[in-house]
Order: sequence, then structure tokens, then C-alpha cells
Amino acid sequence: MNALLSVSDKTGIVEFAQTLHALGIKLLSTGGTARLLQEAGLPVTEVAEVTQFPEMLDGRVKTLHPKVHGGLLARRALPEHMAALKEHGIDTIDLLVVNLYPFEATVAKPRCTLADAIENIDIGGPAMVRSAAKNWQDVGVLTDASQYPAVLEELKANGKLSDKLRFALSVAAFNRVAQYDGAISDYLSSVTFEAEQLSETYVPQRSLFAGQSNGIFTKVQDLRYGENSHQQAALYRDLYPAPGSLVTGVQLQGKELSYNNIADADAAWECIKTFEAAACVIVKHANPCGVAVGLDALGAYTKAFQTDPTSAFGGIIALNRTLDGAAAAQISKQFVEVLMAPDFSPEALEVFKAKANVRLLKIALPAHGGKTDWERGRNAMDAKRIGSGLLLQTADNHEISLIDLKVVTKKQPTLEEMEDLLFAWKVAKYVKSNAIVFCKGGMTMGVGAGQMSRLDSARIASIKAQHAGLSLQGTAVASDAFFPFRDGLDVVVDAGASCVIQPGGSMRDQEVIAAADERGVAMVFSGVRHFRH
Ligand code: 5GP
Repeated sequence: MNALLSVSDKTGIVEFAQTLHALGIKLLSTGGTARLLQEAGLPVTEVAEVTQFPEMLDGRVKTLHPKVHGGLLARRALPEHMAALKEHGIDTIDLLVVNLYPFEATVAKPRCTLADAIENIDIGGPAMVRSAAKNWQDVGVLTDASQYPAVLEELKANGKLSDKLRFALSVAAFNRVAQYDGAISDYLSSVTFEAEQLSETYVPQRSLFAGQSNGIFTKVQDLRYGENSHQQAALYRDLYPAPGSLVTGVQLQGKELSYNNIADADAAWECIKTFEAAACVIVKHANPCGVAVGLDALGAYTKAFQTDPTSAFGGIIALNRTLDGAAAAQISKQFVEVLMAPDFSPEALEVFKAKANVRLLKIALPAHGGKTDWERGRNAMDAKRIGSGLLLQTADNHEISLIDLKVVTKKQPTLEEMEDLLFAWKVAKYVKSNAIVFCKGGMTMGVGAGQMSRLDSARIASIKAQHAGLSLQGTAVASDAFFPFRDGLDVVVDAGASCVIQPGGSMRDQEVIAAADERGVAMVFSGVRHFRH
């Protein structure tokens, strides 16, 4: 049995090799490792002697040779493989002990030069590890000192390694190589490359985030900071962004977009995209605080603002029509962080010239009637980071129309009410759960967002309407998920609602329907729920 030992981290290697030697295993090794073993009095054959080729290029080429890889890769059970080894005078290597150049530890040093990092990329080590791991049925591969005891135990007991252990070692080896290559890729992607400063002593600038593209996302820009000032952040976009998505927009003026600006702008833009009529969405802290449709940009904005003028202060505003001079003049009266529209008229641009800080984003709208989600500017996938994991789901692209609605009460909604219900449902989808949205005449009249109880969302929505001086008499209400009890329904009816849309599907649907009948309001079931957390 032949073992090849080539390790950077020499912890425990002498003792390990001594036991191998005592078990009658022949030792092969590379430069530094071989010297150490020889100093300990062990008989060691240098790989250079086997290959009849000296280590060269400062150790960059040591073991990259058919005599090494042939010995690792040959299938012992295949006569033609064994005949090939014999023909070329190659011995099998049955045990490989390799740990790699310390790339991770090197780049973790604060003043690590680019040259030093590059020199610490092991080439021959991973190549041997992969050869041995691929041929796990015939070769045992050790990539960490912690594996030495288990291997010695089996060798002492049986004179060979079990299939189970060799397979486990192979898996561990591929994991190690993947982790190693991941560290190299991460490091190099983080380097801000400045050719003019390149020298042996060049310490590159590094960003926490990858430099160009990792194949899925492309970096748009580093951000000043994240959600809070102590967090670092960057914006990435899909390699092929859907037409009409926020990341395809162009900033015409204003301060640099912050992390929170982008998150809120996206919430507003995703919502505005769903309207065909002239509409306006005002977002604060990722929730719409006013949404309305109108005859034109000015009309829609004026109504959206009325919902909650207090919250609209410092808001993010999206329009799906060209921002004209009249709308611009009106909007410029409020403090606005970001203003998005498919276009801006020269008059509108003139108005905002005087407000140089306001960020104006020009974003093309996706074509209505697109066949795929992508064509309609929708994400196919939705992702959420959790502790040491990632939650992925298909995006909530579900839309309803009149025919999907089921009236469950004695009272039928009027045509006007039906329109308001559909409008409210559209908005509720973009409000964080639990969402309760009062609407009338194509505008939101009260938005209750993000509460842990549906009842509280209902209460908050009506309190906000009161504060804004709006009457909720005869309003339509959307609830993003079903009412588990009749109490939530009672709150919205007490506030003045005359019709309600909700998914239905509660154990107590009958109780809630009876309550609606008792209170004389119309209720429709949408059959789908729109949780948004
Ligand atoms: P040693 O100190 O024994 O001279 O070197 C051990 C290190 O060299 C191990 O980390 C091993 O992965 C690495 N190594 C073995 N063969 C090659 C090779 O051909 N090229 C490079 N770059 N590294 C190798």
C-alpha cells in the first residue's frame, strides 16, 4: 500500500506517518512535508523522485504528473487500467493525505497583498484531492488532521479502509474543495481592481460584495449603507431584468438612492404596475399609505395624498403616467424622497430643478397584455433570507377579475361597490399583513398594515381615516386573509363599510357570513389570500 502525504498544515502529520510506516505502508511526499518526515527518521520517497521531474516554479508544479494522477485515478478492478499503469511504470497511490495552501487564513490577514493571495491558491493539491475523491472505491483521501484517528483505527483493525469510510472521506474532500474554491471566488470578486496600482505590495480595496457578476445577479452599485448606518449594502439586479422593473430605471436627478429608498420605491413601483388607469401610489416604510386612480396624474396624486397626508410626508411616490407640470407643482408642495414615473415633462423637470435633492426616477412601464410574468415585469421568484438559509417561493402574481368573485351574502354589491372592492383587493396585496384596506371612489380611505391581529389592523385603518378627516360611510373593505371571527367584520362595519372582500376559507365562514347578513352588508369571497410578510 502506498500513501502520498502533502500537507501545508503539518499538525499531527509526523505521528500519523509513523503509524502508517509501522503498518507497512510506503510513504511518498512533497518538499516540505518530506523533509519533516525525514527529520523524524522516517523513510520517505520524494514525489520528484517518482516523477523523475523536479518540483518547479516555486512549488507551483509539484505533483501535477501522470505518475501521480495515474496512481490515484486508476480503477483497480479494471484490467486495462492496471495494464496501463504497468506499461508506464506507475504505482498505485492508495491513500492521499493533503491539506491545501492556507488561502482563507492568508486573505483574512488585514494587509494581505493581491500577490500573496494569488500565490496561496493551491493548484496541485485540489487536483490530487479530486482525483482521489473521484476514485473513492480504491483510494482513501484525507483533507483534515481531524480525520487521522478514524483512518488509523480501521487500518490497524483491518489493514484497509471500509467502503463506508472511503465514501465519507470522498464526500468530505469534495466539500472541502468546493469551500476552498468558494473562498477564492469570494475574495477575487470582492477586489476593486486598480491596474495602475498593481505591484507585489498592492493591497487591494475590498467590498463585502462581489465585484461583477456571480452568474445570477449583476452588481448595480454599492450603497452608502444598509437599512441602518452600521450595515454595509449593495444593489444587485437580475442578469436579465424584466422590462418595467425598478432596476431598469434611470435616475434623472437627486441625492443617491439609499437602501430604504430602493426598498420602498420597489414596493410602490410593483403596486403601480398593476393599474391601467392613471394611478398614484404613495409608500412609507414599504406600505402604501395612499393609493388612488384618477383622470390624470394630478387627479390620482391628489386623491392618494388625501388618504393619509401625515404619513405621506417624506414619502415615495409612483405614477403610471407622465409627470406633467400641474402634477409636479402639486407634488412639490410636500416633502418627497423619491418620485417615479414613466416620463417627466419639461415643465415637471423645471419644477423639480429648484428641489435638487428630490430623486426623480424614470422607469418604463411593462407592456400590459404581456404573455409571461417576465414580459409583464414580474419576478418569477421571491426570496427571503433567514438565519443560515434562504426561503424561495414563486412570486405572488395572482390577479382576480369579476368572474372570480363569489357573493356570499343576501345583499349583492352594487356595480360601484364591486369596482371599489376590486380596487381595495389590488391594494391589499401590497400592504403588509395583516392588511385591512378601506376604499371608495377609486381611492384608499384607510390603510391598516402589518399588525399581529386583524382586529387591530381594522381599528388602525379606521382611526387613520378619522385623523385624515375622511368618512368611511359606504366604503369597500379588503382583508388580505379571512376573518377568523366575526369581530373583525363588526369593526369595519361599525366604521361605516358597506361591502367587504376577503378570501373566505375560515372554519367560521358561516358565522362571519351570518354576521354580514345581520349587519346588512355585502360580502364577496376572492378564494385567494395575499399574505405579505
Ligand atoms: P510541501 O510543504 O509538502 O512542499 O507542500 C504541501 C502543499 O503543496 C500542500 O498544501 C499541497 O496541497 C500542495 N501541493 C501539492 N502538489 C502541488 C502542485 O503541484 N502545485 C501546487 N501549487 N501545490 C501543490
